[in-house]
Amino acid sequence: MEKSGIATVIKNAGSLFLLSQLPGWAPFPAVLRGRIRLKGGVATNPVAVGDRVRFTLEEDPTPEHPALITEVLPRKNYVIRRSTNLSRQAHVIAANVDEAFLIVSLWFPEIKLPFLDRLLVTCQVYGVPVTLVLNKVDLYRDEIPEQVAAFRRIYEGAGYRVIETSAVTGEGIETLREATRGKVCLLSGESGVGKSSLIRAIDPSLDPKVGEISEVHLQGKHTTSLYEMYRTRDEAFLIDTPGLRGFGLVDLKKEEIALYFPEMLEASRECRFTPCTHTHEPGCAVKAAVDEGRISAERYNSYLGMLEEDTKFR
Ligand code: GDP
Ligand code: ZN
Repeated sequence: MEKSGIATVIKNAGSLFLLSQLPGWAPFPAVLRGRIRLKGGVATNPVAVGDRVRFTLEEDPTPEHPALITEVLPRKNYVIRRSTNLSRQAHVIAANVDEAFLIVSLWFPEIKLPFLDRLLVTCQVYGVPVTLVLNKVDLYRDEIPEQVAAFRRIYEGAGYRVIETSAVTGEGIETLREATRGKVCLLSGESGVGKSSLIRAIDPSLDPKVGEISEVHLQGKHTTSLYEMYRTRDEAFLIDTPGLRGFGLVDLKKEEIALYFPEMLEASRECRFTPCTHTHEPGCAVKAAVDEGRISAERYNSYLGMLEEDTKFR
């Protein structure tokens, strides 16, 4: 008896996929039927973690008799990684992401704001809402309270939610658990910020460095998969992405960049000229907002940096 249904891709190892019918879990193996191509895409992988797919199966699926993926349903959004600035080849990291949690730390490793801002622009371009997670606060909040406050002022001022956490003391973990519950979340952060520690703090049964869901279902066909979705016991679906650099590049024209700084976009409605680069034009409302402190100088500097470098990543 042939059955069919819709499921979500939670892992891809070589030609084998693991599917799950969220919000349940019970992963089962599947392969692509024939060649499924993404319309108009340049992606090396037509099916990515987070994709919703239609499948058929004839019996209980096993690695020897996997389900067949027959169709990839339209995506609400997706995040891609380009191999190099000029390469046309791209890899879809994740599809249908409800929210990205960008994990940062002011110390160890030291945060680089222009880099974070570039990443925030990327998420804006992809239409993925962002929450910032300031981790390791146990290490530095008492030492540099004014820098913690400044971080919050800059990013809350730009419209982002900031959650302070410590995987060591457990501070903020409940807030993070609530913020991720029931959502497909992309977790990203520079190596060493405590991404794995936070995943373990949210759900101690998970260990991203071990990747426990793989073993049973993909035995014998073990290929490392970069991206994988985990389900926490509170039904958050976390996609772990190694390294912030993973999706730091997008194609943007100079005049488009400011559209992806939410606070500049809002202020720019009052600029005298359209388009306005918000650099030298008279009557620029963005520059006025920076002068009056309504837009942070740090964010504006990141914007100027991106304008200058723009030619490099086109
Ligand atoms: P990942 O590379 O982002 O997955 O980072 P890890 O979770 O492996 O953590 C890197 C190091 O930072 C480890 O030594 C952790 O014990 C430590 N660490 C993680 N979170 C915290 C935290 O909130 N506070 C402190 N003090 N150390 C942390
Ligand atoms: Zn302007």
